[in-house]
Amino acid sequence: MAQERYQRVGEITAPIYSQDCSVLIMATSILLDTQTGNAMAQIKYKSLSENVVKAIFVDVQCFDVSGNELDGIVDFQYLDLNIGSHNEFGSKTPIKLPDSRTRRIIVKIRKIMYQVGGLKELPENAEWKTVPKQENLIDSLGSPELVEQYIRETSISSKFTPLETDNIWLCSCGEVNSTDEAKCHQCSINKKSDFDNFNKELLIENLNEYRKSQLVKENLVANKKSKIKKIAIITLAIAVLIILTTLIIGFINTQKQPGPDGEYSIIGHRYNTRTGELLDSGTSANTWTFKDMMLCDSGNNSHAPSNTPYKRTGRKIVLEHSINTWAGGTIDTLLLEEDGTLSGVDTNETNKSYYVEIIVVPIH
Ligand SMILES: [Zn+2]
Repeated sequence: MAQERYQRVGEITAPIYSQDCSVLIMATSILLDTQTGNAMAQIKYKSLSENVVKAIFVDVQCFDVSGNELDGIVDFQYLDLNIGSHNEFGSKTPIKLPDSRTRRIIVKIRKIMYQVGGLKELPENAEWKTVPKQENLIDSLGSPELVEQYIRETSISSKFTPLETDNIWLCSCGEVNSTDEAKCHQCSINKKSDFDNFNKELLIENLNEYRKSQLVKENLVANKKSKIKKIAIITLAIAVLIILTTLIIGFINTQKQPGPDGEYSIIGHRYNTRTGELLDSGTSANTWTFKDMMLCDSGNNSHAPSNTPYKRTGRKIVLEHSINTWAGGTIDTLLLEEDGTLSGVDTNETNKSYYVEIIVVPIH
């Protein structure tokens, strides 16, 4: 495997800031070019300024591995930039260091050229400090419930203790913002909310309120579930009641259904078998009596043998013997209608030229 051309021989990843400067130095690396033997500085910056950065001028102090200062660089210029707020830059512009023995560097920004307002020179004695490391919320608040409450009050991105120093504030999400910024550039949380809510007493108070409101919500849900259960039971009971009522009414109706017991008279209509034309109509002078599953003819005419047994199945009445009707034909099956009448078709066995429809009407 071919050796990497650039070998990293020094690195600082903690960002540094100066209260006189709107640009952070995020990280520095020293790379050794294995082909040429040169040491290169790779420096990453981040602008916190709303004012677009067009150029920056930096000094680089160089030290060897034992801390002896070597030749450094004065006024290295990053030119033709167009850097907006919270944008990083510089890491793709390596700086050739004068001494290849360089293993540590100190970078200081000297001047910044802005789009609006032009060149701003930093004071000679501008102090550069490491951006403070934020404490984890769980370490500073001490309980997961308070951390969750802080997150509820601020943002889902909150992980760290918010911190303000000099000209920067560090959001609970970890982003470094300029003090001029009222909202975090990363998570959009309001700076005031981020800091005001980091108050243990307030968080405990709010947590208690939250628990109370959760309890109310849980009770509401439980009541709703109980109501739904009650409604389901009542609905089921009503459905069962309706079914039972329907069955009972059906049973009662069955019981009330007109039976054949009683006296009936016969009305008959005679039709032409071929054409269906009504030939004549008539009413029998005698009556029929249905009683105890027996059919009797009450008249003198022998329309039915005395005491003809019959079977009733539902609405169908089947006579054990065929009976003669008004028209002189025979009938052995009658159909009991809803209104208590009986109907049947009587065929003439001797003369196929007509048939008779009969209706047996109860006499009340
Ligand atoms: Zn944030």
